[in-house]
Amino acid sequence: MPLLEGSVGVEDLVLLEPLVEESLLKNLQLRYENKEIYTYIGNVVISVNPYQQLPIYGPEYIAKYQDCTFYELKPHIYALANVAYQSLRDRDQDQCILITGESGSGKTEASKLVMSYVAAVCGKGEQVNSVKEQLLQSNPVLEAFGNAKTIRNNNSSRFGKYMDIEFDFKGSPLGGVITNYLLEKSRVVKQLKGERNFHIFYQLLAGADAQLLKALKLERDTTGYAYLNQETSRVDGMDDASSFSAVQSAMAVIGFSEEEIRQVLEVTALVLKLGNVMVADEFQANGIPASGICDGRGVQEIGELVGLSSEELKRALCSRTMETAKEKVVTALNVMQAQYARDALAKNIYSRLFNWIVNRINENIKVGIGEQKKVMGVLDIYGFEILEDNSFEQFVINYCNEKLQQVFIEMTLKEEQEEYKREGIPWTKVDYFDNGIICNLIEHNQRGILAMLDEECLRPGVVSDSTFLAKLNQLFSKHSHYESKVTQNAQRQYDHTMGLSCFRICHYAGKVTYNVTSFIDKNNDLLFRDLSQAMWKAQHPLIRSLFPEGNPKQASLKRPPTAGAQFKSSVAILMKNLYSKNPNYIRCIKPNEHQQRGQFSSDLVATQAQYLGLLENVRVRRAGYAYRQGYGPFLERYRLLSRSTWPRWNGGDREGAEKVLGELSISSGELAFGKTKIFIRSPRTLFYLEEQRRLRL
Ligand code: ADP
Ligand code: MG
Repeated sequence: MPLLEGSVGVEDLVLLEPLVEESLLKNLQLRYENKEIYTYIGNVVISVNPYQQLPIYGPEYIAKYQDCTFYELKPHIYALANVAYQSLRDRDQDQCILITGESGSGKTEASKLVMSYVAAVCGKGEQVNSVKEQLLQSNPVLEAFGNAKTIRNNNSSRFGKYMDIEFDFKGSPLGGVITNYLLEKSRVVKQLKGERNFHIFYQLLAGADAQLLKALKLERDTTGYAYLNQETSRVDGMDDASSFSAVQSAMAVIGFSEEEIRQVLEVTALVLKLGNVMVADEFQANGIPASGICDGRGVQEIGELVGLSSEELKRALCSRTMETAKEKVVTALNVMQAQYARDALAKNIYSRLFNWIVNRINENIKVGIGEQKKVMGVLDIYGFEILEDNSFEQFVINYCNEKLQQVFIEMTLKEEQEEYKREGIPWTKVDYFDNGIICNLIEHNQRGILAMLDEECLRPGVVSDSTFLAKLNQLFSKHSHYESKVTQNAQRQYDHTMGLSCFRICHYAGKVTYNVTSFIDKNNDLLFRDLSQAMWKAQHPLIRSLFPEGNPKQASLKRPPTAGAQFKSSVAILMKNLYSKNPNYIRCIKPNEHQQRGQFSSDLVATQAQYLGLLENVRVRRAGYAYRQGYGPFLERYRLLSRSTWPRWNGGDREGAEKVLGELSISSGELAFGKTKIFIRSPRTLFYLEEQRRLRL
């Protein structure tokens, strides 16, 4: 029941009265302060990060939730995982669990709770256990290479992740597939104050024994590495050395060979050492603006590490070859350009390594073709982002969230509609904001912002971020969800906060101003051919395999798809995947900016509630009937309200419920009797029932 004795506030926001932002926040706060971090909106779970270990997890709780139906116990991620798993096993419905929220709100922890719940309830046996182990051990590996300390979260995932877990007809796990989205590769070469590079670098330096360090030509001290922020190398409560051995054994469990693990570490070391190549000051010899390598030993060592002549590497880093049909022209790079090339190489190596690791995990956990599968997908992906300065990354992240919102509204409405149909209740149309117009503005094949960006990237002639912006301004000046300084006209207020190099999109969650600077560059995502060719010449098998386009025989003139196009197509695949499954939602909220327990900042939560569209969610959910319950449990709770059903009732559940409700003065429009459930239109009616019940107790 949504109104358990001893609960604080309402456990289901559908029952909120009045339904306004203030009461919603109050309710979440009240519950949070009482360590009730989970609250429902129908079957959606809202989770507020407790920043402390609460005694509500583990085998005992798993067992409890396993034996109960959704509303019987307090709201919990376990209840959601249980419903999802049971529908998958017993009703053959593929499921997906969508976890969204901003950085530090608890998405990854929530996804781990779901996985551990499913692992605990889904069958036993040696074979099954080894599959479970592999699936669970993918987490520490991906976290080592894909997570980092940020200002907002000490263990922040810097990539989006979708994992399909596949089961056989009995509901035992067979394996899975992981898809990763947009690793934040700029972190490899630069981090904000108070942040760290990816965990693996520190884990490697802290945890490798002397012999391994020597083999990798590394020093233990982090201060020697230009790519590692100097003032932040430790994270409270994090033991890098022991994590390192955990990562190595996790890799072994998943099925990485010793040789592969060594190669991965060699590539990791290579990235670190690359950061120390060429220091700008010493670089500029006598004001001559051509680059050279000042740190000969570093290059030498990198060469030795991956089997590449240092001459080759130097040449690739310091010059650029332009090929036309007739001739090859080699130009020397200046210091800035050479540094840019070096950093681009480091970022590319690392992000390709990360993709390689994900693929390698997939090879090990994949399920044979032809096996009958049921699937549970778990999506742990960055929420809507509005930073001070929003760039290409925020643009694509917010595009993804716009699409997720679309899935959310469409699927929630569809599900409501289907339930009404199943139960034989007439459907009432629900008004809601359709964000298709914003999705279209971004993704339209010929006329969307992404298409315009690609067009600029591929267009010959002088292109720049500002020609791109000019194009947008020209095309979208009349679009209701597009604004820029130039297109602001009499109807719209002139906004002094928007710079000339910016455009603004009115997303479903709010307005975001994007700065176009480096959009072209980031979308192109090109690595100079000299660099990929040099990498391909390395004897190191892993490095070599990461740069297939460096093979001069294979190098086609066709360029790879742009970053935007790639992202758009992976989002499209994701959406198709989600639409084919039954959705379950976990909405995560960060209660304060300080990673502190017990603090609840209403302003901060209000913004997130808005980004998550919580009010809209409640509105849609109770547009028809706010509350529904199977006749059995309903009668059990309220039969004491009628003399016919109390103390004894021998009839059917539905008849009993009709008797109880018939004796109370409830207007007929308030109720609908479905095939298996009673539907109640407004929360007030339910409160009235509860009140009556309390009076009798
Ligand atoms: P996100 O993935 O949304 O960025 P995380 O899942 O990494 O956020 O959570 C950030 C931190 O918050 C975790 O490292 C953990 O310390 C804390 N946390 C999150 N969820 C819980 C929870 N259910 N119980 C205890 N601590 C939590
Ligand atoms: Mg995360």
